[in-house]
Amino acid sequence: MMLAHKASREGKVAAEVIAGKPSAFDARAIPAVVYTDPQIAWCGLTEEQARQQNRKVDVQRFPWKFSGRATTMGAPEGLTKIIVDPPSGRILGMGITGRDTEGLDENP
Ligand SMILES: Cc1cc2nc3c(=O)[nH]c(=O)nc-3n(C[C@H](O)[C@H](O)[C@H](O)COP(=O)(O)OP(=O)(O)OC[C@H]3O[C@@H](n4cnc5c(N)ncnc54)[C@H](O)[C@@H]3O)c2cc1C
Repeated sequence: MMLAHKASREGKVAAEVIAGKPSAFDARAIPAVVYTDPQIAWCGLTEEQARQQNRKVDVQRFPWKFSGRATTMGAPEGLTKIIVDPPSGRILGMGITGRDTEGLDENP
């Protein structure tokens, strides 16, 4: 995967190994992150993939307008979605989108 945050982590691991420290890239899951405005990130099973597999899932949505922090930061339009396996409650996937409020003043 050609992802910036994965490359960052790999660089840190490489530096640690060169320095003789015990280190390894052993990620169990790597989220995809698109650094757009709004930013988008997802990991694991998507709702669409679950539908294609005829897999029964619970989809839990949290609109950011209910987040006090997002509202006070002026970014209430975001959404966090979690895909859950109903019998076990295990999280199978997640998706998140919202505005990065850093630099909002400079780029209204
Ligand atoms: C337009 C664009 C949009 C992207 N959007 C996203 C995104 O939304 N999300 C995401 O996760 N990833 C995104 N990526 C991918 C992400 O930027 C790369 O996967 C990541 O930067 C790779 O990191 P890297 O350290 O392997 O390589 P690089 O970031 O390319 O770093 C390599 C460095 O080595 C230097 N270098 C090369 N040759 C030499 C040399 N001979 N001597 C010294 N230095 C040298 C280069 O100048 C550079 O600074 C995007 C990439 C592009 C091009």
